[in-house]
Amino acid sequence: MAEAAGKSGALERYEAVIGIEIHCQLRTASKMFCGCSTEIDGAAPNSHCCPVCLGLPGVLPTINKTAVEHVIATGFAIEATVASTTRWDRKNYFYPDLPKGYQISQYQLPLASDGRLTFETSEGPFTVRIRRAHLEEDTGRLIHAELGGRRVSLIDFNRSGMPLMEIVTEPDIRTAEQARRYAEELRLLMRTIGASDAEMENGQMRVEANVSIRPRGQERLGTRTEVKNMNSMRAVERAIAFEIERQAVAIDAGETIRMETRGWDESRQSTYHMRPKEEENDYRYFPEPDLPPLLTSPEWLAEIEARLPELPATRRTRYQTEFGLSAYDAGVLVNDAAATAMFEGVLAVGPRLAPKQVANWVTGEYLRLAKAAGDGDRVVAPELAVLLKLIEDGIISGTNAKEVFAEHFATGMGVNAIVKARGLEQISDAGALGKAIDDVLAANPAAVADYRSGKGAAVGFLVGQVMKATRGQANAGMVQTALRERLDKGS
Ligand SMILES: [Zn+2]
Repeated sequence: MAEAAGKSGALERYEAVIGIEIHCQLRTASKMFCGCSTEIDGAAPNSHCCPVCLGLPGVLPTINKTAVEHVIATGFAIEATVASTTRWDRKNYFYPDLPKGYQISQYQLPLASDGRLTFETSEGPFTVRIRRAHLEEDTGRLIHAELGGRRVSLIDFNRSGMPLMEIVTEPDIRTAEQARRYAEELRLLMRTIGASDAEMENGQMRVEANVSIRPRGQERLGTRTEVKNMNSMRAVERAIAFEIERQAVAIDAGETIRMETRGWDESRQSTYHMRPKEEENDYRYFPEPDLPPLLTSPEWLAEIEARLPELPATRRTRYQTEFGLSAYDAGVLVNDAAATAMFEGVLAVGPRLAPKQVANWVTGEYLRLAKAAGDGDRVVAPELAVLLKLIEDGIISGTNAKEVFAEHFATGMGVNAIVKARGLEQISDAGALGKAIDDVLAANPAAVADYRSGKGAAVGFLVGQVMKATRGQANAGMVQTALRERLDKGS
């Protein structure tokens, strides 16, 4: 983690100033300003287009209400001010993937502004102020290929006009880890409120970082570079750490930092120059003449706010206060949607189970197996609930329960069936246990003598021998009690 920034001790001499811009593809059935379907994964190129998203002359855009509602919901979720009046602006630039020569966006009046997001880091909770969240449309996609020995650029407009939300922070972030944690928390928030699937790998969530450094103690900001093409959370942290280090080395060598856009090269683990950075005034923004200002009534806003589900931060706090979980366990459960669902699902069918025990199994065995298999759907909550009840009732041991769970995970066989098939029910029958204990006592006179001469630890050894003799099926608690009874009586 942050290995690049550690090499020259850059972070001791320089302070990094980082702002993050995130684009999220919103979860809607149709595109931002037309009726084309957003189901473009695996579709033939240019099969999901119409005159509107192809930017043909004379067409008129219509606003996707669901996309607007997702941005408003995000605004409430990040404690932002949601605008009562917003407007659409044209952002003008020429690029082959932008058929109209402009993008419809929100510049002067974003839907949400002045928000914040708080999340945990290795150095404690950290809050980032969010400047704005606004709505815009996506561009098409250029594909560079070779056809018949010639290098060509192909264009696919399926993505053109997809609804995008851009979320911009204030430059509050100081480390690569904070940047990564911010992006992770925002991704969790997007998924929780259903605004976006936010998969980085397929471009549904794109993270860009503005990075500059300044000598510690200096107020004035250094020249920033923009880093993009980071396709995973790990890449976000590494790219920013690399960029901080690169700038420090350059400044130490007397070089000037250029304002530029740099890409992250995953295979080389370094950033590279892509192009000089455009200034905002290069875009010649002006109000979109084809769309009226967007008015949000108080009733509509209240309705959207009332629909919000429990947010991750609230849920973490509730798990601690309601179930007595540690902050760490609550974090692990809430940060993973499958873990949250499993925890809640087990408690729903087994309301009398101890929440701490359920949390231990979900964060431990369940997540371990799910991560190794890359799939957590092999376990259904009721089966885990059955298993935990068997442990609680003393019918199987904790050790055997882990084996049962692993087999259930691998084969999908029911927990009760596995316990029966393997003959794993604990021996809790006093008569059967008594026989095993008597045999062990008779076979281990030295340990018995040790105990009677005051070495209490000998009991542990004898319990172990009984467990071994019963192939781990004896109820350890009962063995312990019965052993002491016999040893104390005979002394
Ligand atoms: Zn269209």
